[in-house]
Amino acid sequence: MRRSVGIFGSTGSIGQNTVDLLQRQGGAEVYDVRVVTGARNIALLAEQAKTLQSDMAVTAEESLLDDLRAALSGTGIEVAAGSEALRAAAAQPLDWGMSAIVGAAGLVPTLEMARHAKTLALANKESLVCAGELLQDTCARHGCRLIPVDSEHSAIFQAMQGGSADISRILLTASGGPFRDWTLEQMREATLAQAVAHPNWDMGQRISIDSATMFNKALEVIEAQQLFDVEAGAIEVVVHPQSIIHSMIEYHDGAILAQMGAPDMRGAIGFALNWPERRDLPVDRLDFAALSRLDFAAPDEARFPALRLAKQVLEAGGLSGAVFNAAKEAALDRFITGDIGFLDMAALVEYTLDKLHLEASAANSLDGLDRVLEIDRNARRTGMDWQPA
Ligand code: NAD
Ligand code: MG
Repeated sequence: MRRSVGIFGSTGSIGQNTVDLLQRQGGAEVYDVRVVTGARNIALLAEQAKTLQSDMAVTAEESLLDDLRAALSGTGIEVAAGSEALRAAAAQPLDWGMSAIVGAAGLVPTLEMARHAKTLALANKESLVCAGELLQDTCARHGCRLIPVDSEHSAIFQAMQGGSADISRILLTASGGPFRDWTLEQMREATLAQAVAHPNWDMGQRISIDSATMFNKALEVIEAQQLFDVEAGAIEVVVHPQSIIHSMIEYHDGAILAQMGAPDMRGAIGFALNWPERRDLPVDRLDFAALSRLDFAAPDEARFPALRLAKQVLEAGGLSGAVFNAAKEAALDRFITGDIGFLDMAALVEYTLDKLHLEASAANSLDGLDRVLEIDRNARRTGMDWQPA
């Protein structure tokens, strides 16, 4: 029996790496690919659908349905477009579903996979940040196994195979991004091109900018708290410029387990694909003699206020994560279009968190998806209205 799979966000950085691994592990002979999804890159989406012999291809962009239909005409591959089509495609039984849409746009398909898939490989950290309790509850009620794909959380998950009880600390490693050693004055003038140029990881545009502000690490702190159910104060960020240690856990007796490997997302994606087995993966092997050293430093919250804001979110609880993420997405949109500067992003998010604090901390994602989406809209609107001083 071929394993049925769906790849949401297949045309992105994580998605393309996922397609690459499926191909290397036997492609359509081994995997019954039910659906691949993308947004604007119709040529790539159509090519992936043909290579993997997918039953269906879905684009998030309704205006591009005709293009997708033309690109796949004569293949028998079903096409669809729009957010409702994405939701419906996620609401089918799958042995393995990859959630790799970027942003809160991934939330609805992710929740559907949690109801219908046996295993949910979760790259879309925003789902956990916006609606962690709801997602975990949905997985539990429907017997879906969630395997994190974010490299740090995959590392923690792997280290925890030795036991998840008695953990005293989670040490999330952070490369520090392209501006690790920049001054605040330099960061104020940072351009889009500079923010996108990550030193170690080859990622999508949005998460690359989030790495430069360290909003990505802030999201990951919240993601870790949702996934591993530890005290907020037990999660620490450690700057580790080489990105060789993907994260660590410490037990009460002081023992620390680290998961290491080359910085290549196919490690974490392949782990989630093959779990509980481990198979050969096309990632570079570490040569410790050649590496010779690994460096560590404390993060600087003055230059990277996102980390301070993450703590504020954990303290406030409720739907503060949804506000945080939506405000961050609004900030990112405005930075990408050149409307606001690099440092303005954190100021916008802080303003939005303060403004919606009471409303957010009094709610919970278990109140339902509509509540989450409502607060997401409020936060986006507030973030869009914010003006630099
Ligand atoms: P990306 O920008 O390269 O790709 C995003 C995918 O989502 C594409 O397929 C795109 O077509 C689709 N998409 C974009 N907007 C959409 C919308 N509104 N509706 C539906 N689909 C839409 O992003 P990425 O770097 O692959 O990241 C994907 C997710 O994985 C993010 O949540 C990111 O935080 C997480 N992640 C990525 C990496 C990485 O190395 N790239 C590492 C860890 C976690
Ligand atoms: Mg990560």
